[in-house]
Amino acid sequence: MPGYELFGAEERKEVTDVLETGILMRYGFDGPRNGIWKAKELESGLQERFNSPYVQLVSSGTAALTTAMAALGIGAGDEIIMPSFTFVASFEAVLSVGAVPVLVEIDESLTPDPAAVAAAITPKTKAIMPVHMCGSMARMDELKALCTEHNLLLIEDACQAIGGTYKGKMLGTIGDAGTFSFDFVKTITCAEGGAVLTPNEDVWKKCDEYSDHGHDHLGKDRGADLHPYLGYNFRISELHAAVGLAQLRKLDDFLALQKRNQGLVWNELKKVNGLTFRDLPDPEGDTGAFISFFLPTELQAREAVAGFAAAGLGGNFYWYDNNWHYIRKWEHLKNGAWMHRLHEDHKKAVLHYVNQPFPQSDAIMGRCISSSVSLLWTEAEARERGQKMAAVLEQVLAGVNEPA
Ligand SMILES: *Cc1c(COP(=O)(O)O)cnc(C)c1O
Repeated sequence: MPGYELFGAEERKEVTDVLETGILMRYGFDGPRNGIWKAKELESGLQERFNSPYVQLVSSGTAALTTAMAALGIGAGDEIIMPSFTFVASFEAVLSVGAVPVLVEIDESLTPDPAAVAAAITPKTKAIMPVHMCGSMARMDELKALCTEHNLLLIEDACQAIGGTYKGKMLGTIGDAGTFSFDFVKTITCAEGGAVLTPNEDVWKKCDEYSDHGHDHLGKDRGADLHPYLGYNFRISELHAAVGLAQLRKLDDFLALQKRNQGLVWNELKKVNGLTFRDLPDPEGDTGAFISFFLPTELQAREAVAGFAAAGLGGNFYWYDNNWHYIRKWEHLKNGAWMHRLHEDHKKAVLHYVNQPFPQSDAIMGRCISSSVSLLWTEAEARERGQKMAAVLEQVLAGVNEPA
């Protein structure tokens, strides 16, 4: 999955270009920067590679989500429908603009169940925000149809699915806005960074302004810029953008390696009787970052996790117990542990939605393991990993470790 595994001379060269001019900021200093504009160059590169009319770089994936929501006019009183399985940043961004995250059940695609989304729509719903988790896509046709029917915005959290597609379209470019994260463990990294992709010029312009204190970037220098809106500082630096530029050029190699290694592991796991796999709405569009599979019971999933650890097989994630990715362990959210005071109505609405039971998601996540795919494995290593995993799974499924 992570681009940091193949960091090297290309990244160092791009960073050195910036260090030689000493202009570490993405705006202004036109003379001394000597024609070096890494953030601008990365934005055009992303536009081209992802076939997205407008791209705004920001300082993180979380900032990208917040910026996209602000630019789409999401705020107080609005409800945003999102899955119970995601990374905490998805709801942090919703809360940061004063809106209410409405968590819904996922299905075996590990993304929002369209029936649960439909049932959660109220007159306050402003947007549906699917999260393309673990390198694969949400059920975009069904979610898009719901957005059209109810006149809702569609925001894709594509932070974990850079380079994935759905029916030929790049993930992140299907909705009104999509977001990428380039944090240290994502498919390509800037160390820290993120991007908003949008087909809408007005939304992009607002992202450009919001992420830089509202500057319109039309003045002859920064002091002469006007401020049509209030904003924030979510700027990316030239050093971070430089790393991302080198990584973007390697993205297609990363994806090819990832898919090759995923395929080799998968071939072995497919031979295991009784194991089932994540439902992929468009298998062609998977990025190869993970293989997610289900054991018949939660007990067997726990035994498999323990078995992998005992066999020295790292990178197998049991999200059900993970503090970052699944509602079950988001105690800080469920208890409303805000550092600052919230409007009582806002707080009440948030706590109401996040404290609902999620029996369907529990039944899926309790049996699910996601196995991450490394870019560094040789073909032989990938095959061997698959065989070792299969051996552990076969033992678990044969009931060898089942208590009497
Ligand atoms: C990583 C991630 C984010 C946030 O990205 P940061 O760059 O770490 O802020 C948002 N959503 C999902 C699903 C992620 O995995």
